[in-house]
Amino acid sequence: MEFVSDDALVIRTQPYGENHRLVLLLTKQWGLLRALAYGAQKQHGPLYGATQTLVLSKVLMSLNSNGLSDIKQMEIQTSFPLIRQDPLLLLYATAVNELLWRLGQVEQQQQSLPPSVFFEVLACLNKLGQVSPGLLFTHLELRLLPFIGVMIDTTHCAECGAPLRDTTRFSLAKGGGLCETCQSGRDDSHAILLLPSTWRLLGKLVATPLHKLGHVKVSERYERQLALIIRLYLAEYAGVTLRSLQVIESENL
Ligand SMILES: [Zn+2]
Repeated sequence: MEFVSDDALVIRTQPYGENHRLVLLLTKQWGLLRALAYGAQKQHGPLYGATQTLVLSKVLMSLNSNGLSDIKQMEIQTSFPLIRQDPLLLLYATAVNELLWRLGQVEQQQQSLPPSVFFEVLACLNKLGQVSPGLLFTHLELRLLPFIGVMIDTTHCAECGAPLRDTTRFSLAKGGGLCETCQSGRDDSHAILLLPSTWRLLGKLVATPLHKLGHVKVSERYERQLALIIRLYLAEYAGVTLRSLQVIESENL
């Protein structure tokens, strides 16, 4: 049997029998993988710590044709202690896992994820605590949209398809921004009136990988508006609502 080595982040874990664990991993080379960790339920076993959610490891495993890999060894790189100490950051990190889990459900019918996804998720986790976690997570959601099978076109009018540099109107019904012609006379009760420059900022985030974006500081009003757009869009077009984000919002964290 051939073993391969890769970096892997544990997204989900569940018991398998009395002693073992099934885990969903985000790996650098193979995207999302389901794997079996033998003996990982045993508290003093070698795989116990590494198979907790939100742990990054070097993993040695066999890739099996049945879609379920076998984990041979795991060497912990980090368990993100700064995130675990902060309840708000931990909720955002849990939201990252929730989003990836949803992505895994879509990915089963699609191609595997490119390594860029692994780098963007790691950039998000590494930057949590350094910059606004809300904006960071919105950025990750925007970057992962195409892998969920949906995408906001930030350069064309969602109604007529004309090139669109900027707009102050986002139509949820049409799934995008509207040009001036299409805005006038339109009775769209679900349209969101955008603050100036929100649309351009959205376009910049859609186009820039997380690990390549420098420091961006925006006011809370913009941050909330961007988050609102992406949440409504994800719920409407992908049926995705993330529980951790609802907790953050309901408790006003
Ligand atoms: Zn138009």
